[in-house]
Amino acid sequence: MVHVLQAYCVVSTGVRITCSNQSGPGRRGAVLSSAGGPSMRDNIGAVFGPKQLQSLLPFHQVSPTENVIEEFGLKDADLPKQLFTISGFVSQGEHGVGRSATDRQFFFINKRPCDPPKVSRLVNEVYHSYNRHQYPFVALNITVASECVDVNVTPDKRQIFLQEEKLLLAILKTSLVAMYESGVNKIGVNHPPSAKAAAAAASELRQTIPSSENHDGSSENVLNPSPKTTANLALLKAAFSNRRGSKSSSEKSPAGGGGGPTQKSLQCFFKDPARRPPGAKSPATPRREDAKGATGGRSALEGFRYGGGDSERRPESPGAAVHVSGTKHESFPGTPDRGVEAPPTAASSSDDDDDDGASAGPEAKRTRAENPPLDAPPLDATPLDATPLEAPPLDAPARLRRTTAPLRFSFPALAANVRKLKERRERDGGAALRYRRFRAKISPGENQSAEEELRKEISKDTFRDMEVVGQFNLGFIVTRLKSDVFIIDQHATDEKYNFEMLQRHTVIQGQRLIAPQALGLPAVSENVLMENLEIFRKNGFEFLIDEDAPVMQRVRLVSLPTSKNWTFGPADIEELIFMLSDSPGVMCRPSRVRQMFASRACRKSVMIGTALSAGEMKKLVAHMAEIEHPWNCPHGRPTMRHLANLDIISQD
Ligand code: ZN
Ligand code: ZN
Repeated sequence: MVHVLQAYCVVSTGVRITCSNQSGPGRRGAVLSSAGGPSMRDNIGAVFGPKQLQSLLPFHQVSPTENVIEEFGLKDADLPKQLFTISGFVSQGEHGVGRSATDRQFFFINKRPCDPPKVSRLVNEVYHSYNRHQYPFVALNITVASECVDVNVTPDKRQIFLQEEKLLLAILKTSLVAMYESGVNKIGVNHPPSAKAAAAAASELRQTIPSSENHDGSSENVLNPSPKTTANLALLKAAFSNRRGSKSSSEKSPAGGGGGPTQKSLQCFFKDPARRPPGAKSPATPRREDAKGATGGRSALEGFRYGGGDSERRPESPGAAVHVSGTKHESFPGTPDRGVEAPPTAASSSDDDDDDGASAGPEAKRTRAENPPLDAPPLDATPLDATPLEAPPLDAPARLRRTTAPLRFSFPALAANVRKLKERRERDGGAALRYRRFRAKISPGENQSAEEELRKEISKDTFRDMEVVGQFNLGFIVTRLKSDVFIIDQHATDEKYNFEMLQRHTVIQGQRLIAPQALGLPAVSENVLMENLEIFRKNGFEFLIDEDAPVMQRVRLVSLPTSKNWTFGPADIEELIFMLSDSPGVMCRPSRVRQMFASRACRKSVMIGTALSAGEMKKLVAHMAEIEHPWNCPHGRPTMRHLANLDIISQD
């Protein structure tokens, strides 16, 4: 309801809206109010505070480019001109200035709030290609002739039918790309690149750029960055973005046309000012800086092994050259979780980070393996029996080494086993066992169905009844439950257990600030915060509350969670507020705290390559009964899979 109200507050100019909540006799708290300002900009400031305004770009509409027209399957000739007029604001594209959720996205058709799914998906997609891990603030009003729009689709009139919707999407895409392209030459130098090579490159960049921007805390610098804090990333980006991308702005530089769609080499690109992409602000930048930017740029590319010579063969992904942030798991999706994850701050390798957490891990033997001794496959990657340590060279003559080993075998023993099996089957009622409860294969494509089957067939207490058969490949526990055999990833399951224990029990230590910090939260956020102080306290955030102060000044931050290598700030508070407004009173953690716990849990869990005793294995399996969601590690890797049903094997 508050979101709907916010939408009306944002779009209604010259109208003052106030909403308050009567929470008891004489107790009345402001939920939301707008000041009846003359523009959408004023309204956004009144509802979300002046800080939000600082991180926004006014929407600037341009006509769709040929490529985008083609992408949406439109024909240039029959496109109506001047059908849509779009105005409003979106977040800037720099890292850290967006939001951690889609909680502030407002779309309007002719000033009527609505939910256009394709429009919102497109805006978020474009934004993600510039700010990978955040969502934009969006307030966009689309003006269109009323005969082109049908609002009578659903009773709440939030779904709409638009004529020429594809044209609208094409305009939006072209405009947003043009807006963000012109901003990509700004880079916050405090944002640590994740790769070592990138760090070296960044230090080169830093020589030309005084380090002043505070990425997490405030965005004051972002709106009007001084020219010194900008590097010529636009040049780099243009050099490696696709042909489409480099021509995507409608104001294509005429001088650049002669070079054709492919780029020859990075060096000649930097030398030739005529080839500057349209968005780059270089003409305003002194030449000296151009040169330095180019030097820093080239080494950044070398760091990424994007040698200048083969730029024509670069994958067509805009922004590839500038993406230097993000956690390990996200940046390298192909990297399996081997139990040796680094914490997100790239350079750090220390691990005495666990001291403020309740250490509830098992006393299982732990080896801190720098290289996992055995290349045991993750459960969702490769069939277990098909993992050669090294791929054999092609066309090498096969050499067989034969060894002879006597095999103990006894017909009477086999006969006795068969008899026993028969008896048991009769006892258990053969019919019930004939249907297969587990059908999913061990393969990444079947993870979801495998998980559903496990959830359905394995209740929490069944873990206690599981019999440990043994350890496989020093990485997996093989268990049996009646005639079903399972395989459990020892690291993944221990990691999930430790993670959930940290989530549940850790009270993060807060560090007091020298002076209370005003947060300027909108009234509705202040209310959510004030109602959930205990959850904030458990996360290390403490506040000074003054209920009688004016709205947006009722809450001041006095204590922040601290942990080695992790810094937290207002963005984490806002994320918690967002989660708590969905489920008030339910214990939750900011995603970065979860990330921190995941990496702590990883480091304190039993590693792949560790030999386990029967007792240790039994304990790990028993712990699974206490895990809320036992089927995946915090990084999404499966913990357990069904291997085989012994009855089916013996029937065959
Ligand atoms: Zn791990
Ligand atoms: Zn993991």
